[in-house]
Amino acid sequence: MNVILAEYLGFCYGVKRAIKLAREQAGKDSFVATLGPIIHNPQMVAQLDAEGIKMIDTLDEINKGTVIIRSHGVGPNIYKKAEAKGLTVLDATCPHVKKAQMSAKNLAAEGYVVIIIGEKKHPEVKSIFEWAGENAIVVEDEEQARQIKYVPKLGVVAQTTFSRIKFKQLVEILIDKSNNIKVLRTICNATEQRQQAAADLASEVDMMLVIGGKNSANTTRLADLCSKQCLTYHIETADELDANWFHNIEKIGVTAGASTPDWLIREVYTKCKNMNKICKVY
Ligand code: SF4
Repeated sequence: MNVILAEYLGFCYGVKRAIKLAREQAGKDSFVATLGPIIHNPQMVAQLDAEGIKMIDTLDEINKGTVIIRSHGVGPNIYKKAEAKGLTVLDATCPHVKKAQMSAKNLAAEGYVVIIIGEKKHPEVKSIFEWAGENAIVVEDEEQARQIKYVPKLGVVAQTTFSRIKFKQLVEILIDKSNNIKVLRTICNATEQRQQAAADLASEVDMMLVIGGKNSANTTRLADLCSKQCLTYHIETADELDANWFHNIEKIGVTAGASTPDWLIREVYTKCKNMNKICKVY
């Protein structure tokens, strides 16, 4: 049985950076907590909790210590509220997300109606929206893009993990909504690299294993992409691997979302390699 890892998989730069910053802060303050899960991976959140980095849902749950802003970022009101409470703020917003937030802020300041292309409910989009002025609108699909009314100045930014192809399609619709349109392509490479590498690998193997949180949007998207090419399982840990899946399978591809830690990938890889023996005994 041949087990092949995708060329790009697992933690992206922004996630690695956020976890490193959080770990450096652990133990330096009486209470250290991330505002929301630092990444969409329950195993990683549990590990950080064991290291003393707690998770809170709102600033109402903290009165002293350090609050860590995760890679998805937050709006300006959170910084103000944290400052008013006398908290230390450790800003682990990914620099790519920060760039999207500041692009939206600057466009709004220049009088543009800001369109954010992305998933309305995603925390990163919510954070960009908070910086984008009172007229900002989130557009998720072609239908919503068509409904935008003509405005004198239209500025467009994107969720960093949005599909480049879909972004282009939506911009083509938005182009007719103003004579003065400014498009800032705030998409980051990490997602696309992982998606392309996963699709390439899925076209060569009999089965793909996609590792990552069931609550991780980018992992779910990887699983969707792979399932179009071959038999695909989305798992969170090696414990979910089932010997039945491996019968008559020669080549297995492994990929993982941008929020999946290396140790989970290693465990799955090793168990797959050993599955060869398990299948023969079965
Ligand atoms: S996917 Fe890109 S923008 Fe998002 S956290 Fe990772 S590096 Fe930053």
